[in-house]
Amino acid sequence: MTTYATREIAPETAPGPTVYVRPGETGSIVPLKTRYENFIGGEWLKPIKGGYAADLAPATGLPTAEYARSTVEDIDMAVRAASSAFPGWAATTTHDRAAVLMAIADRLEEHLETIAVMESWENGKPVRETLGADIPLAIDHFRYFAAAIRTQEGTIKKLSNELVSYHFREPIGVVAQIIPWNFPILMAAWKLAPAIAAGNTVVLKPASATPISILYVMELIGDLLPAGVINVVNGSGAHLGRPLVEYDGVGKVAFTGSTATGREIMGYAIKNIIPTTMELGDKSPNVFFDDVARSKDDFYTKAIEGFTMFAVNKGEICSCPSRALLQDGLVTAGFLDDAVDRVKRITVGDPLDTSTEMGPQNSLDQVEKISGYLTLGVEEGASTLTGGKRAEMGGDLSGGYFIEPTVFRGTNDMRIFQEEIFGPVLTVATFSDYDEAIAIANDTIYGLGSGVWSRDTDVTYGRRARTSRPAACGSTRTTSTHLLRSDPS
Ligand code: NAD
Repeated sequence: MTTYATREIAPETAPGPTVYVRPGETGSIVPLKTRYENFIGGEWLKPIKGGYAADLAPATGLPTAEYARSTVEDIDMAVRAASSAFPGWAATTTHDRAAVLMAIADRLEEHLETIAVMESWENGKPVRETLGADIPLAIDHFRYFAAAIRTQEGTIKKLSNELVSYHFREPIGVVAQIIPWNFPILMAAWKLAPAIAAGNTVVLKPASATPISILYVMELIGDLLPAGVINVVNGSGAHLGRPLVEYDGVGKVAFTGSTATGREIMGYAIKNIIPTTMELGDKSPNVFFDDVARSKDDFYTKAIEGFTMFAVNKGEICSCPSRALLQDGLVTAGFLDDAVDRVKRITVGDPLDTSTEMGPQNSLDQVEKISGYLTLGVEEGASTLTGGKRAEMGGDLSGGYFIEPTVFRGTNDMRIFQEEIFGPVLTVATFSDYDEAIAIANDTIYGLGSGVWSRDTDVTYGRRARTSRPAACGSTRTTSTHLLRSDPS
């Protein structure tokens, strides 16, 4: 049984709602420092010419600790450190690198609870998510790539009696990694684990809104890696991104963030013609067919939870199911009312309270952006089924960045259906039949994820539609399957 350091509610005998002490307050399980430097070449280094900025807690809007606002001089030092470390790290055996990744996973697991609390407080996401998903998944990622690097093989092909072609994988060199604030540690793990498993070294630039949790992780795992294999430099992406990606000697850039920034970074990568990996935005459709309401059973309840998934991580997820498409009969059958009732019951509150289902948005910038869309939705003529404004929390959360979970009903041509809001805002439209569902689902510039809810696998797998168009593929309960674009032939 996990032991909790609690602030208000201390479960003496039975597990139940628990509120963790905030990092920085007396009694917290997170030993937060007042200032965090850059991690370069295995050392904690002050920014050479830059200064510091305050990292604000989304739940209160108050400063937690300071982080470095670096300049190009720090990028230079970090790339040099990564370049020096590269030959030695690339020369290690896959066995040795896998052992390091396994050791990292074990160390993170040992500190899972403190990392989860730190991540939750800095990002605003409910601690039940960081305890149950973000950090366990990050740990698993290191284990996955420890195995992958041991089992990956090249290929060999005999082209003729005189000619044999063989391929084997080699590390690229120094990889620039730029990550967002919505899953700071998980996104870092997604990028770091495969890169270092393959023998690359890394310069990582966290998002300015979440600069510290990954440094907290580096404090825990830094001794497991040779100096310079992972370097972390904080500061403005707008100022540091270009010099980092265009630096002679950086061999690849991996980015997760907005589509607009991804496009800019691909432009920087042209200078040295380096490969890019981009994970960008989405406006995922979540399609519900009439048969969901055939019975008010477990599947019906599960579908309602699926509808409510737009509020997971306060909607700050790239594949957030932010467009619910309902077949007409579901409205008359009461499914929409039931689903909106469930949304009204989402527990919004302190991210460090284990009973909280939705915490604050990550930053004031996010609150302003989302608030703009809440106004726009009304102006566009959408009806507000619930929510629609900032959530007033009171007490010491009154300065926090809370937004009410919001459901709009409208049509797919509205901007609130077309643009990525990246907040707890669901837009609902209706359709009459399968073909119209596919047409609306695919009427978007994005294509990252989607969900299909039906009791009929002919519908979810798309077989029924083949008479008229090729298919959508999906499953009865997932939110991460892709709808294929219809083939006009
Ligand atoms: P963002 O693009 O504003 O910032 C991401 C990172 O890029 C930050 O570290 C930022 O400092 C840096 N950055 C900003 N401007 C830069 C520039 N000109 N050059 C180089 N770096 C720059 O995105 P965000 O608002 O932090 O994150 C939210 C976005 O990320 C959403 O659009 C979301 O859909 C997307 N996202 C996608 C995935 C995925 O797997 N596809 C996962 C998470 C988030």
